[in-house]
Amino acid sequence: MTTRWMVCSGLMFLLASPAQAQPVDVASLKTRAEATDFQETTRYEEVMDFTEAIANGSETIYRTVFGYTSEGRALPLVVVGDVAGAGAEAVRASGKTRVFVQANIHAGEVCGKEAMLMLLRALAAGQHAAWADSLVLLIAPIYNADGNERISLTNRPGQNGPLGGMGQRPNAQGLDLNRDHMKMDSPEARSLVGLFNAYDPHVVVDLHTTNGAIHAYHLTYSPPLHPNTPRAIDAFLRENWLPAVTRRIKERYGWEYYYYGNIPWRNSNAERGWYTFDHRPRFNNNYTGLRNRFAILSEAYAYATFEERVLASLYFVEEILEFAYQNAGTIQTITRRVDAESVVGQALAVRAQHARSSEPVEILMGEVEEVKHPYADIRLRNRLDVKRSEQMYEYGRFEPTETATAPRAYLVPPGLSTTIDRLDAHGIHARLLEADTTLLVERFRLDSTQVVAREYQGHHAQTLFGSYEQIDLTLPAGTLVVPVEQPLGRLAFSLLEPRSDDGLAAWGLIETADAEVYPVLRIPADR
Ligand SMILES: [Zn+2]
Repeated sequence: MTTRWMVCSGLMFLLASPAQAQPVDVASLKTRAEATDFQETTRYEEVMDFTEAIANGSETIYRTVFGYTSEGRALPLVVVGDVAGAGAEAVRASGKTRVFVQANIHAGEVCGKEAMLMLLRALAAGQHAAWADSLVLLIAPIYNADGNERISLTNRPGQNGPLGGMGQRPNAQGLDLNRDHMKMDSPEARSLVGLFNAYDPHVVVDLHTTNGAIHAYHLTYSPPLHPNTPRAIDAFLRENWLPAVTRRIKERYGWEYYYYGNIPWRNSNAERGWYTFDHRPRFNNNYTGLRNRFAILSEAYAYATFEERVLASLYFVEEILEFAYQNAGTIQTITRRVDAESVVGQALAVRAQHARSSEPVEILMGEVEEVKHPYADIRLRNRLDVKRSEQMYEYGRFEPTETATAPRAYLVPPGLSTTIDRLDAHGIHARLLEADTTLLVERFRLDSTQVVAREYQGHHAQTLFGSYEQIDLTLPAGTLVVPVEQPLGRLAFSLLEPRSDDGLAAWGLIETADAEVYPVLRIPADR
């Protein structure tokens, strides 16, 4: 099928302004993927038309904008629920549990975008109407909108379609948006974190496609992986939520889902096992965990057909939402409780490593065949229906390799404008010293700073070496006091601690090349 769907005919545009246009029959809307027999993926303007038509056709669906890309594309946010409007205030005033789903952060991984358009169409047609009793959905179907428009047949080598091409991984500035949650260099990251601050979703779901290990799962997933993630968030996801969803998918569709993992390369020294990816909060799910919120990373299997990947992502989100609907009160209770916890005085991780499971687990390995791309001189991998059970240790969690005691507060000198800007953008509360103040503080005396020569994501990564000393200092008026006792205390720690492996110093945003001391000071935990 080669016809394209259209939301409005040209004639309708001539006869009526969009505001007066008759609502289209939403059930007849098709994504570009559906209209092309899954040969192509939906473009930005089509996403805008589709979501506008959906919002026009439903009383409980709104479309708004949560920010802009570096090329100025408006980032659409679709709000679904029993709310007075699409704005953050109206959504929060509803008191419902807020679930945010984003797709397309990597714009070659397009199945989540197609799945979310299909879900919105189903919601507009009245399916899952009960969800509105306890949930408000916030859906951002095309986060990396600029990347989505840079279509090439070879953007994801080996991925099983769409054969008509897909967008690129980074944004238009060449930045990987899933490494930008801490340093926030891109307007997209600022838009997203602005949404987190304004709407404060209790749950964040981030939709991807993985081309890693050749396994038998249609989809793999991950909770937040940072060791400083609140225990109650980690436990509820691992012990209740993810197992329930996995069971339901298996029962309803016969498909296997499991935790994300990779097998070490043959020439690696690492033990054969099932290794998850990374704990650092530059990644969306890990960042969300440090904000005391539930996060689920979704990775559809790149070698399943494009249509199966879209459905795998759709089924996953549906079951996540069904569980959220049934457990909406518990989800809010847990987030409220962890927001009220103080980490002051606790030993928190600044660096971490994979931790091995106590017992081996069953991993389902798979097989693929290589096929020629019909339109390009590349080869694709096609999933075969093979399931081979293997027992191996799982490295699905991280344990600290180094900790630091969370202080009472951080003290940021007035001149550190980049640091002050980032703290504000993250939504971290702080206050200014009104007068010069003499205090006993902890100061990190630097032995050395190691700088990585190769640039990564626009930065030369740094590692600081040194140790804390206590000293009486007079702090000038205008010093920023960042209390650790606040809901974003874990995040403030990871941003400001000098040895944090994903902090502002690690990204070179706090420069220490010729300095003898780290400029951010601490008020000790026992003060
Ligand atoms: Zn991805």
